Amino acid sequence: FSCDLIRNFSIIAHIDHGKSTLADRLLELTGTIKKKEVGKNEQVLDKLKVERERGITVKAQTASMMHTSGGKQHVLNLIDTPGHVDFAWEVSRSLAACQGALLLVDASQGVQAQTISVFHIAQERGLKIIPVLNKIDLPAAQPERIAAQMEATFGTDPADIIRISAKTGRGVDEVLRAIIDRIPPPSGVPTKPLKAFLFDSQYDRYRGVISLVSIQDGILKKGDRIASCYTKKKYEIAEIGIMNPEENPVNGLYPGQVGYIACNMKESSEAHIGDTLYRVGAAVDPMPGFKPAKAMVYAGIFPIDTSDFPKLEESIKRLALTDRSVTVQRESSTALGQGCRLGFLGTLHMDVFRQRLEDEHDANIIITAPTVPYKIVYKDREVFVSNPTEFPDAIDVASKVKEIQEPVVKASIIAPEEYFGEMMDLCFSHRAEELDHRYLDAGTGTSSRIMLNCVMPLSEIVTGFFDQLKSRSSGFASFDYEEAGYKASDLAKMVFLLNGKPVDALALIVHRSNEDKIGKIWVKKLVKVIPRQMFEVPIQAAVGKKIISRETLSAYRADVTAGLYGGDVSRKMKQLENQKEGKKKMKRMGTVDMPQEAFFDIMSSR
Ligand code: GDP
Ligand code: MG
Repeated sequence: FSCDLIRNFSIIAHIDHGKSTLADRLLELTGTIKKKEVGKNEQVLDKLKVERERGITVKAQTASMMHTSGGKQHVLNLIDTPGHVDFAWEVSRSLAACQGALLLVDASQGVQAQTISVFHIAQERGLKIIPVLNKIDLPAAQPERIAAQMEATFGTDPADIIRISAKTGRGVDEVLRAIIDRIPPPSGVPTKPLKAFLFDSQYDRYRGVISLVSIQDGILKKGDRIASCYTKKKYEIAEIGIMNPEENPVNGLYPGQVGYIACNMKESSEAHIGDTLYRVGAAVDPMPGFKPAKAMVYAGIFPIDTSDFPKLEESIKRLALTDRSVTVQRESSTALGQGCRLGFLGTLHMDVFRQRLEDEHDANIIITAPTVPYKIVYKDREVFVSNPTEFPDAIDVASKVKEIQEPVVKASIIAPEEYFGEMMDLCFSHRAEELDHRYLDAGTGTSSRIMLNCVMPLSEIVTGFFDQLKSRSSGFASFDYEEAGYKASDLAKMVFLLNGKPVDALALIVHRSNEDKIGKIWVKKLVKVIPRQMFEVPIQAAVGKKIISRETLSAYRADVTAGLYGGDVSRKMKQLENQKEGKKKMKRMGTVDMPQEAFFDIMSSR
């Protein structure tokens, strides 16, 4: 055995630039999987249903391939990385096990914002980067121009760029050669004490936690007794193998190799990402671990039928075991009942979690609008608040609070030049500051691409920003952001009053410059969804004592019985109760009856 014959690499690519297709071609070319019929497009590494549907990778997957070159059999470990900003944490932990990366760019689309940030992570880790231009078979491909873009953005030498079509297979053999020739082998010594780096884990109902490890030094075999630097707990290796791409048991893992282990670990929390495992009795210095992921977007998840809460909580907990970057807390709301408040890395992350709950756990849920963690600076302490109901009232703000701060991000947008004005407008209307821009491919003539950088509040991008960006750029803009700390901001809690009584569950945190606009919009929405009562109901938006906006819901008259929420209340109730899954339970808010459905409309459309 020799380390020299191992290559550990990953593929960095924007969504849809062809990462999965290239991975499949590499698996085929090395004989790891059988060649598929042309036109069949089921990708081997994207295992979760949500990944197939959305064409994104959420959990990093790993595959090992054997390839003979120069008369020697090499082991190539492909460590898959997610391509989205929300999963930057997964990206950096996958890259920690690699010595090189393919930087894959679509020759018709060009460099995208998210690719740049992943590239920077790879570069900081000292990985050897192999630039690859994909989809050169497309008539719209502009390899020369995109190559120049890569030179301008990444400092790539155009002569190093490999041009391929992952679809037809053209050029893929050259990629395979480059992996062997250009990426350095891992450096590890089999005779040194065992040092295994734990970079991912999954929960298996029968075997407990399955961990993915990369062997730094020493040899790990079945039956070995190992211990964790982090928890000091001891385990015995029950099963060991490589991903090929399915689990394939082997006798031992050698330095530089990447594989899975099962060791009767019962709880996911025992598998600490970034941990170092060593042989019992031969302790080693731990390798530098990872910073734990930090939740930046919070939302409440409630069962549609309140009696489903125990089942929902169980499902959430189970799903959270497979995705350790999600934080879970209980939350109860007068309007929505018992639920959980979850913290996510970003909105896509949130969306993926919601979809997995629905797909894999059959959950019937309502998810509230996302919020961000605000920092409330009191005279003697600081408190983080992510739930509007816990935000201090205007009176407290005036008397006790020194400053309110909100998280901001450094955002970058890449778009064709003709959308520049639209993109500027979009940023300004979302309170962006410190705008600057530069051309990515100056001098290449028509439709150059521009990169726009700015600082903006995270709260401005958690609700619908991405969709607006896409629609206002006809889908041509790409977007990425990174955290940039906290900034003082003029924020306030907006409450809504029904018949003069505040409804907790509807509270919002708003920037004072937007309060009139937001107050108006929400009061108008409430008037539409709240059923008429036997009496007139004032609906108001207020910040502190100040009423921002007001509408009056008129009383219903006897002849109005056909409306969605109108009619005789007791008959309506009966009818509603008959509806399956109890979706339309009435909630009594103040003195106003409000169908739960009306809350759902409001809560989910924020
Ligand atoms: P990923 O999101 O980066 O994993 O991208 P996929 O591998 O799923 O590819 C996205 C789409 O581009 C799919 O419809 C592929 O069939 C297509 N695609 C991938 N590589 C090529 C290529 O070289 N040429 C063409 N014409 N299409 C490709
Ligand atoms: Mg893919």
